[in-house]
Amino acid sequence: MSDTHSNDKTPKFSRILLKLSGEALAGGKGMGIDASVLDQMSLSIAHLCGLGVQVGIVVGGGNLYRGSTLQKEGLVGRVTGDQMGMLATVMNGLAMRDALERRNIKCRLMSAMKIGEMCETYSTRNAIRYLKQGEVCIFVAGTGNPFFTTDTAACLRGIEIEASLILKATKVDGIYDKDPSLYDDAIKYDSLTFDKALEEKLGVMDMTAIALCREHNVPLCVFDMNKPNALLNVVMGENEGTKVYH
Ligand code: UDP
Repeated sequence: MSDTHSNDKTPKFSRILLKLSGEALAGGKGMGIDASVLDQMSLSIAHLCGLGVQVGIVVGGGNLYRGSTLQKEGLVGRVTGDQMGMLATVMNGLAMRDALERRNIKCRLMSAMKIGEMCETYSTRNAIRYLKQGEVCIFVAGTGNPFFTTDTAACLRGIEIEASLILKATKVDGIYDKDPSLYDDAIKYDSLTFDKALEEKLGVMDMTAIALCREHNVPLCVFDMNKPNALLNVVMGENEGTKVYH
């Protein structure tokens, strides 16, 4: 699943798509955005940029709004709720852009929905051009359509920008056969196939997202963003998290 020959100092993946969920951005607070988490994430991303890795990021919005929850609460209908959810990802993206710029990392905020001067509208050709120039691209507003998730947006953008790996940052260190927060005897997979991930409905990523990666043969890796150096280890090709591929 590598795209380059690596030694200890050469990243194994030259262009990646990193999915940061809203939950990850909220850190211990459980909601909103935790400044220290954002700072830590931007440091890890800056490290990759320093190694010449091209980084695309999809941010979630569940720390602020989820369409399905807003609908259940009776606040709005599902489509409006999903639009609010997509706008939440824009807010997270704005915060991430600032955090990266504080570290002098050049970056672009690209939205699936037309927003105006706050961020540019997504275009695959422009995104690839920016990535080649060493700029980080933050993709927001999910796919731009209701009834989808930012996991699916991550796989979609990852495929579009021809990333060699799609990484999903979570609070656990990989994929388990059952929920490790509920079962002490849960077993972690080092790797598994797309078919097994889909068959067992492991719940770590939505089915549409996994099916997209399977169809386009782009490997996935699920890892713990809070673990020091975990992101770097994955990109260097070390045994970290759980890899999903054919
Ligand atoms: N959303 C959407 N279409 C998309 C991506 C996201 O409608 O393509 C909405 C949806 O309401 C979702 C919310 O945005 O609940 C936040 O995204 P998600 O739940 O995937 O965020 P995460 O769980 O990663 O924080």
